Amino acid sequence: MAIARFKALELAQSRQTVPVKVPTEKVTDFYGSNTFNDEVMRSLLSPEAYLKITNAIQDGKKIDREAADEVAAAMKSWALSKGATHYTHWFQPLTGTTAEKHDAFFDVTHTGKAIEKFKGSALVQQEPDASSFPNGGIRSTFEARGYTAWDPSSPAFIMENTAGTATLCIPSVFVSYTGEALDYKTPLLKSIELIDKAATKVMNEYFSRDVSKVTVTLGAEQEYFLVDEALYNARPDLMMAGRTVFGHSPAKGQQLEDHYFGSIPSRINAFMVDFELEALKLGMPVRTRHNEVAPAQFEVAPTFEEVNLACDHNALLMDLMNKVAAKHKLRVLFHEKPFAGINGSGKHNNWSLGTDTGINLLGPSTKPKENLRFLTFFVNTIKAVHDHADLLRASIATSGNEHRLGANEAPPAIISIFIGTEMSRVLNDLENLSDLNDIKLEKGDNVYLRLGINKIPALLLDNTDRNRTSPFAFTGNKFEFRAVGSSANSASPMTILNTIMANQLIKFREEVDVILEKGIKKELAIVEVLKKYVKETKRILFEGNGYSEEWVEEAASRGLSNLKTTPEALAKYIEPSAIELFTKYSIFSETEMHARFEIELENYMKKVQIESRVMGDLAINHVVSTSLKYQTQLVDNVRGQKEIGIDPQYYAPTVEMIKKISQYTSKITTLVDEMTEARKEANNLEDAYERAKMYSDKIKNYFEEIRYCVDKLELIVDDDEWPLPKYRELLLIR
Ligand code: ADP
Ligand code: MG
Repeated sequence: MAIARFKALELAQSRQTVPVKVPTEKVTDFYGSNTFNDEVMRSLLSPEAYLKITNAIQDGKKIDREAADEVAAAMKSWALSKGATHYTHWFQPLTGTTAEKHDAFFDVTHTGKAIEKFKGSALVQQEPDASSFPNGGIRSTFEARGYTAWDPSSPAFIMENTAGTATLCIPSVFVSYTGEALDYKTPLLKSIELIDKAATKVMNEYFSRDVSKVTVTLGAEQEYFLVDEALYNARPDLMMAGRTVFGHSPAKGQQLEDHYFGSIPSRINAFMVDFELEALKLGMPVRTRHNEVAPAQFEVAPTFEEVNLACDHNALLMDLMNKVAAKHKLRVLFHEKPFAGINGSGKHNNWSLGTDTGINLLGPSTKPKENLRFLTFFVNTIKAVHDHADLLRASIATSGNEHRLGANEAPPAIISIFIGTEMSRVLNDLENLSDLNDIKLEKGDNVYLRLGINKIPALLLDNTDRNRTSPFAFTGNKFEFRAVGSSANSASPMTILNTIMANQLIKFREEVDVILEKGIKKELAIVEVLKKYVKETKRILFEGNGYSEEWVEEAASRGLSNLKTTPEALAKYIEPSAIELFTKYSIFSETEMHARFEIELENYMKKVQIESRVMGDLAINHVVSTSLKYQTQLVDNVRGQKEIGIDPQYYAPTVEMIKKISQYTSKITTLVDEMTEARKEANNLEDAYERAKMYSDKIKNYFEEIRYCVDKLELIVDDDEWPLPKYRELLLIR
């Protein structure tokens, strides 16, 4: 008897909804109550210190020692009043998770007296022993020092622990002793500054003198699966690799699409309410919750925020969801493809640009002048993505996301852009405008009328023109980068998107200025450059089914890249053109780009290695052993039937089953042996890229074949004996 599986099932079925303590106040009364927010700072800081910190938040100005000491003192007393006993710099190393190292406020003086201590220096900088974080060779282990530095633009917050105590968390960057970035946040912050400058210049020179800051906005829709904790614990593959490496599709999967937007089971709802309450206290504007397409799949979406904050919040939200799920005896799966045969999970990054005067630069308008501004940012985004599609692909390349892009039963890894019929028509009209030289403007002429820009239709903001198969889609007033993986740190794709857009806006100005020098009217010059871009970027626009086989062929004929595997996508980071782009704006140094490339390769390789090992173990000591035991029972049975003289035709089907078991188990054993050998061979390769390639090209190839045999055995072997919780059990979440 498969005791572990049945015990787990019994537990899962006996679960009760865990009650949630819902506050009696309105959300607006406790929203952000666990953050060191503007209101708290205003009440606790002297006007001078308050001014200094707001300057630091808004313009990245340095905070002097005195002000830092005052902020630290205020933070400490606020945190103590919230029950915090410890503080930590909270950062996002390249492991893909968040990291903390807690220090107590409590200290003793030289006379042995106990005090609560937290100085400005501790607020500004911390030095975790960081030798085990990935660094891509930047920090040799004997020079293991890396340090974290406070990011004042993301508010400090209180993280409550289950034990009833709490920790003050200070969002920070993580850099090596020699100043290289070892995290996701540092380059993101640089890219934010870059795009702010580039976009503000475009606004000031062509559209509005009033704008003094352009902010990137991000709303990250987060998809995830939930499984019962007991069932999760009975699946070593889920525990170790975050996904099921085996499992036959259930008779009923998502084909009826009855789960999508269906009613949320009470236990799940309690979990959602619970983590949302915690998120709201931490100032995360979570708003939407619903069932997703696949069974046991759900989504949470916050309202968009400034991108640095939104990235922090998303990383924190994932962490929070994991913690709260434990209370509800659930496990959250953030893996991009935890189950074969049903949908995977993404993190749709809704991205836009907003001015400090309240304009969404990707929001169309009915006024011709504003529409030219919109078209400028819209077309420049398309141009940026067109010219650097490979870098965007690299920014989302991980082993998990490989299952969503380019792999078996996944959409292709081609970056294309969907803009909808309305916008397609607009671009078409733009392209067909008369030549600059043919437009003779008379004094008093309305330039927009002459250009035909006034004919651009008012776009419906709630446009329902959606394409779920597009990796990069315009959705009315923002672009939605849908190909980002559910487990990703959004800072990585956002850094790339910001940088390529900033670079594009800089180039755009140069091109417009060349025309302006000829004494041509500004609007005409802008339109001329946009027209050229529309012509140049047509091949990346695609309105059809991005999941279809025809698109793969069509894209190839258009010359678009289809970077199927993670190593080949990551290699785009270290191409000379990429290095030139990123070093030009100091987003990454050349060393940092190589380090990132190596770290991501290493992450990839390790994850595939773990999957391969788990698969080998489970296949041999769970599946093959169970199958052989069952086969022995069948053999005994056939022998018995023969002994008492049953007509052989009646036990012939059983003999067939015995044969099949032999066939599959022997195939599995051979394949696992071969895979193990291939792993050894790969591990001996010196070069990280070659090693990762071998994991991708050779070792991964065994996965499908082994899985096929195991899933066949699942259908043959007695259900009572099958050791692993089955898909129908895992996915039936209640
Ligand atoms: P959907 O139809 O895709 O569910 P929503 O309008 O609900 O669209 O938005 C999805 C996400 O996009 C939300 O997180 C929302 O806050 C975000 N979003 C809306 N406007 C912007 C914007 N200007 N910039 C960035 N994100 C935005
Ligand atoms: Mg969406």
